[in-house]
Amino acid sequence: PALAELLNSRIRDVPDYPKPGVLFKDIAPLLADAEAFAALVDALASRAKAHGATKVVGLEARGFVLAAPAAYAAGLGFVPIRKKGKLPGEVYGRSYELEYGSATLEVQCDAFEPGEKVLVVDDVLATGGTLSASLDLVRQAGAEPAGVVVLMELGFLPGRDRLTEHLGGAPLETL
Ligand code: 5GP
Repeated sequence: PALAELLNSRIRDVPDYPKPGVLFKDIAPLLADAEAFAALVDALASRAKAHGATKVVGLEARGFVLAAPAAYAAGLGFVPIRKKGKLPGEVYGRSYELEYGSATLEVQCDAFEPGEKVLVVDDVLATGGTLSASLDLVRQAGAEPAGVVVLMELGFLPGRDRLTEHLGGAPLETL
């Protein structure tokens, strides 16, 4: 529909980034376009409301840029999930496999009140490792994922399949 076309028209393909053979989807032109950025943030905020979310969670780093304004627009608080070592105090951590090696994501232990419902937001679903770990962290911190929304999904990768068991029935939507 109209929103998907507008968003798509502002996403740039960058070949061989961050390494040869990878076609990177660059969202900088979308963020720089007032109309497209507003449409994206409004869509995310409306998903947060539709799912009855009490917080919006963003994944470092591009997820922050989308989730924080969406939380504000929906009248909700924002919670960051960050790469290892960036959050102060007590944190829960989850590691996941990368193509080479592994990565760890963290959330602060007191990020949520028990039973909160959260919308999890990121820019891209690729292999699904980042979102799978994040959903597990949300649950470990005592909240319930009400839904996941990504700007785009790389359909040639098995991200959606990998994510299914971590969703626990929560809907995954791609804008
Ligand atoms: P996954 O864990 O699903 O393999 O990778 C998703 C994460 O990597 C997201 O946090 C996303 O920001 C980043 N990512 C992977 N590929 C791309 C891409 O082509 N474009 C952008 N903007 N981010 C990507």
